[in-house]
Amino acid sequence: MSRCGFMDTCDFRDRLRVSAPALAKEYDGAYCLANHEDCARHMVALRLGESRVPPDLFPFDRARAENTIEIMSRWIDKESPPDEP
Ligand code: SF4
Repeated sequence: MSRCGFMDTCDFRDRLRVSAPALAKEYDGAYCLANHEDCARHMVALRLGESRVPPDLFPFDRARAENTIEIMSRWIDKESPPDEP
C-alpha cells in the first residue's frame, strides 16, 4: 500500500470529505491510501498536471481519464510535461 502523492492537494478528496464523508473513506481505502495508480484523477494529474483534472472526474472513471488525456495532450506543450509529486 502506498499513499497518493496528490493527497495533500486533491480538491476532489477535500470536497468529498465534506459532502460525503463515508464515500470519501471508501475511496481512501480503494485508491488514495492503497491503489492510487488505479485512480482516474491520479492518471490525469500525472500526465497533464493537477490543474487539468476535470473537477467532476471520479476515481473509478478511467475511460474518461484516458479520453481526457488523449484529447488534452494534443493541446499541451510536450516540451514541459508536469512533474510527479
Ligand atoms: S488517489 Fe485520486 S482521489 Fe485520491 S488523492 Fe489521489 S488523485 Fe485524489
